[in-house]
Amino acid sequence: MSQYLTIEQKAELVDTANKIVAPGKGILAADESTGTMGKRLANIGVENTDENRRLYRQLLFTTDPAIGKNISGVILFHETLYQKADDGTPFVDLIKQKGIIPGIKVDKGVVPLAGFNAGECTTQGMDDLGARCAKYYQDGARFAKWRCVLKITDLTPSDAAMRENAHILARYASICQQNGLVPIVEPEVLSDGSHNLARCQFVTEKVLSYCYRALNDNHVFLEGTLLKPNMVMPGQSCPVKYTPEQVGQATVITLQRTVPPAMPGVTFLSGGQSEEEASLHLNAINACPGKKPWALTFSYGRALQASVLQAWKGKPENVKAAQDELLRRAQANGAASQGKYGGGATGAAGGKSLFVADHQY
Ligand code: 13P
Repeated sequence: MSQYLTIEQKAELVDTANKIVAPGKGILAADESTGTMGKRLANIGVENTDENRRLYRQLLFTTDPAIGKNISGVILFHETLYQKADDGTPFVDLIKQKGIIPGIKVDKGVVPLAGFNAGECTTQGMDDLGARCAKYYQDGARFAKWRCVLKITDLTPSDAAMRENAHILARYASICQQNGLVPIVEPEVLSDGSHNLARCQFVTEKVLSYCYRALNDNHVFLEGTLLKPNMVMPGQSCPVKYTPEQVGQATVITLQRTVPPAMPGVTFLSGGQSEEEASLHLNAINACPGKKPWALTFSYGRALQASVLQAWKGKPENVKAAQDELLRRAQANGAASQGKYGGGATGAAGGKSLFVADHQY
């Protein structure tokens, strides 16, 4: 029996992927694991209980339907996919009612790559992945995310780490597609370190080229995938400052050299940039002249939620103000994804850096 995708399966994947990266739209990454959500809630003095996580996600998903103009997909954590609003409506239905596509994080976190330099890692979660994807599809998800992490030091990432992470992303992508989920391929090069822009570009080019080699080796249907990379940026503690135009150009050149035009859209992670920085950089990427045969948009976690959390602080009377912050960021990034963001939409989190050392999701 053929193990290839059917014409119908391919058409569905293409349709989902293209809807997610439709002009002016991007993804809200709200798939923080329970531990990571706990850290976000601790910042605003809210206890990490099931109920508080539910109340927070309810706030996100009951934002004014206008959010659907700029948010096309939401990535959920397993727990959230099965939670309901106060009135009993499943979150999945709330999301779909706004014309937004539910997605699901399917990896089970980053683990050290034993036998390699400190910091080298891979991502676990392959066991049962097929069965879990089939169930998630049944329960309303139409796309998935799997995050791999690469670190820049003088000695890393090693070829072996890049090969291992590319391979696991390709196997994950293939399994998702067999089950009707568009895989978001996320090889994140962390911004930890003092390296300059050129070093990040060199490493990101290598990482992406390993990924596309592995995706092709595994016959992944590129038209039914999305890529979630880091922007090409200097390390967090690099003494040299670069303009958004320099970041935009380095990022576009990196993608031109490594990402096939068959792949429909790049949905950048924000990676610890401040909200405003993440919008300005996305804008610069889109404003950069040159060949850009893919949509270039956002799939932000911290850079869409920092002001929301600051405005909310766990208080029911702040829900509306917090939802307004989400709308403002979604609109800013929607404009930036078309190169039309003029800056200045700073929210409650201000221009504050959202960097977390050795970030776990
Ligand atoms: P940040 O935008 O906070 O980097 O997170 C996006 C994400 O989904 C990382 O896996």
